[in-house]
Amino acid sequence: MCRSYHFPTVQHKSSYNKPYPTMTARKILFLVLDGISDRPCPELAGKTPLQVAKKPNLDAFAREGVCGIMDTIGPGIRPGSDTAHLALLGYDPRTYYTGRGPLECEGVGISMEPGMIGFRCNFATLSKDGRVIDRRAGRIHDTVALSAAIQKGVDLKKFGVEFFFRSGAGHRAALALKGIGLGHCVSSNDPKKEGVPPLTITAAEQTDKDTKTAAVCNEFARQATAILAEHPVNRERVKQGLNPATAVLMRGAGEMGHFEPFSTRYGISGSVICAASLIAGIGIAVGLRRVHVDGVTGSQDSNLAGKIAVALEELRSRDFVLVNIKGADESGHDGLAKQKTAFIEKIDGAISPLRTVQDTIIVICADHSTPCTVKDHSADPVPVVIWGEGVRTDDVARFDEISCAQGGLNRIPGSSLLPIALDLINRARKYGA
Ligand code: ZN
Ligand code: ZN
Repeated sequence: MCRSYHFPTVQHKSSYNKPYPTMTARKILFLVLDGISDRPCPELAGKTPLQVAKKPNLDAFAREGVCGIMDTIGPGIRPGSDTAHLALLGYDPRTYYTGRGPLECEGVGISMEPGMIGFRCNFATLSKDGRVIDRRAGRIHDTVALSAAIQKGVDLKKFGVEFFFRSGAGHRAALALKGIGLGHCVSSNDPKKEGVPPLTITAAEQTDKDTKTAAVCNEFARQATAILAEHPVNRERVKQGLNPATAVLMRGAGEMGHFEPFSTRYGISGSVICAASLIAGIGIAVGLRRVHVDGVTGSQDSNLAGKIAVALEELRSRDFVLVNIKGADESGHDGLAKQKTAFIEKIDGAISPLRTVQDTIIVICADHSTPCTVKDHSADPVPVVIWGEGVRTDDVARFDEISCAQGGLNRIPGSSLLPIALDLINRARKYGA
């Protein structure tokens, strides 16, 4: 399929001296800059971090490509990262989103079958009298031994339920339940604050299925706490003055749905490169190959150059690669506009190898805005640029929220992005005769 794929050819040309397009690209790269989009920040004299950051590479893509703004899900709809990524991959979240839990499970390596119930979990620290005193267990990492002890020790056979419990990054983990007659409309045991005991998980509507799941979860939490209390990893942590991981908090219950595989839906192969298990889980759920990169953290200190290098490597054998870079979202949640600006400049440096890529349509966008003034996701449309062979250009010369709004793409829904890119590689299905 990619017999004469040129990669990566270094060209010493100014960006205005781009070779005249002679062919159609055959590959697609989605670079999703998580939460990079913003609102005017008082700290930046009323500009957005993208407007003030020095970012010659992102601006060059904007200058040479076609720009626009995008409502990832729809105007006025504040996306989560999960629903946003489903939309960007062309899976309408209104149909396909069944909660965060099952996607987190996929992301930590649990193979989810339709009907299984998934939860995202945290290790937490309980006081001697059973109150949550640290919801992240001293930001413990490397919890694999703890998860293995829970997997081995917890017994849910009396419910006829099989379970899978795996560690995620840091203090995170995921739990999946498999069995007959399980529902997913259950509450969380996470009190969301410290100083109070974990909550009892309850069924939302008292159906038999949900009541059974709630009972299973409460029993799981009870047995897990008993196992964790005695675990050598925790004894060692206490000796070192660190908070032990003595409880599992569960939330985000959802039932695994059925996803039409990406390769069937679009006739192309694909990979996903990300730090967050949630994004990985979405990719795996739709049939993308998850590729690990050393040193990725989902934070500002992530190995961005490694992600880009691996993406280029993947493009040798795959038709589509999605790379998610998370750090800017973190700054947005923390309300740190200057930190966000600095991180944008770091991203810009890391993506310079993409400037010489050939045979590839490069799409750069955000999954949602995370304005520093809001410290959460907002529904403000995000900037988007599409660049590569055969792309019609416009007069936009800068990659930011305000400049891109003047571009030739105008304002598009997130669900249109992959179809537009597929058309540019001549892989879109014809509608009509
Ligand atoms: Zn996001
Ligand atoms: Zn976020």
